[in-house]
Amino acid sequence: MLIDEALSVRKAQRFLMKSQYWPREEIDRHQNRKLRLLVRNAYDNVPYYHEALRKLNLRPEDIRTKSDIIKLPILRKSDLRGNLDRMLASNLKALAMPSQTGGSTGEPLKFYTQKETWKWTTAARYRAWSWCGYEPGDRMVELWGTPFEIKELERFSAKLRNTLLRKMTLNCFTMSDESMAEYARQMQAFKPKVLRGFTSAVYLFAKYVSEHRIKGIQPKSVITTAENLYDFQRKKIEETFGCPVYDGYGSRETSLSAQQCEAKDGYHISEENSIVEFLKDGEPVSPGESGDIVITDLHNQVMPWIRYSIEDVGRPAGEKCSCGRTLSMIKSIEGRIHDIIVTPDGRRVPGEFFPHLFKDVTGIKEYQIYQGSKDGLSVFIVRDSAFSEKEASYLLRHMREYLGSQIAIEMKYVDEIAKSPSGKRRFTISAVSPDN
Ligand SMILES: [Zn+2]
Repeated sequence: MLIDEALSVRKAQRFLMKSQYWPREEIDRHQNRKLRLLVRNAYDNVPYYHEALRKLNLRPEDIRTKSDIIKLPILRKSDLRGNLDRMLASNLKALAMPSQTGGSTGEPLKFYTQKETWKWTTAARYRAWSWCGYEPGDRMVELWGTPFEIKELERFSAKLRNTLLRKMTLNCFTMSDESMAEYARQMQAFKPKVLRGFTSAVYLFAKYVSEHRIKGIQPKSVITTAENLYDFQRKKIEETFGCPVYDGYGSRETSLSAQQCEAKDGYHISEENSIVEFLKDGEPVSPGESGDIVITDLHNQVMPWIRYSIEDVGRPAGEKCSCGRTLSMIKSIEGRIHDIIVTPDGRRVPGEFFPHLFKDVTGIKEYQIYQGSKDGLSVFIVRDSAFSEKEASYLLRHMREYLGSQIAIEMKYVDEIAKSPSGKRRFTISAVSPDN
């Protein structure tokens, strides 16, 4: 099974290695064709879309090219809630794979995907890694959030997959001095060509390595993702490991991925997999202006994502990239706002910890973590009727596991969570400097 999967991903990757240099018209043609198929199936077999298009007096024939996409309604996270069954294509139920995400705005989200989507997403990720010199079979270390509760069989298959892919995964939610010392030893022995991870975790690790003058960790490149990369973080990581940092952006729910190439002038979008729009008040913005990122996933027919507002803000780039690839670019991304949580016993937990934990919990509409002092943090939760003691104790148990026993954790149930003045919801806020 693993071999079959690997072969299908390789094949898709070979396709993508060519299509990244296609003339613009050819990418457009590819997207238009995929869009027509997507809309046709959504109209014929997905109750939610059938109704939504009929309400607007639209037929699948009305969507011929990307320029027609603006006729279709925006899909918001709130539309998905309670509508999950109606989002599923009746003709493809057998292919549906349940999945979930913490969501980049802190609302856990359940959805369906299919193998086809996974294949193209994985292939696009491999292609993006190839821009930083990674080739299949190269050693990679990932500083990543590992699942909170996994079965023995899953544990075994993850280990097998890692061995085959020559990958080592280190849990980035345990970034104490002791665990980082151990991670450093493991990396010295494993000698990864590429180090990849949640941005704040890679940064914390680079700081540790530099402060303790640890030698022998020399990747050829570092890939950061899932959280904003600030200039001071890039500088620290590049100085410490003596190699370039490539920043990536993607979403768990759709097959969008975008990453910097060697030119570092923006993030090339995996346009073979998705159509990306940048909107302000419903209208496309001009290059360089910031707009809401709206994604149409061209590969998920099981549960179509058409004009999905991911609630991140970004700026489209206008000019072509000097690397010669024709894929459009995101100039900058202004989403993903997380802070690091610092505990009295010296742990530093990346903000990504919380969406990772909350995604497995039912009955939560929104949440926000606020750390006012080193000794305590508040967990604000907007719950619905599905939330019970069981969910509360699950959250508390895993927070204790990673945050330790010395920090006070207070759960507060509220009716709503205020947005920041910019309108962007921040879901992990710490008033404590991680340098403390
Ligand atoms: Zn480029």
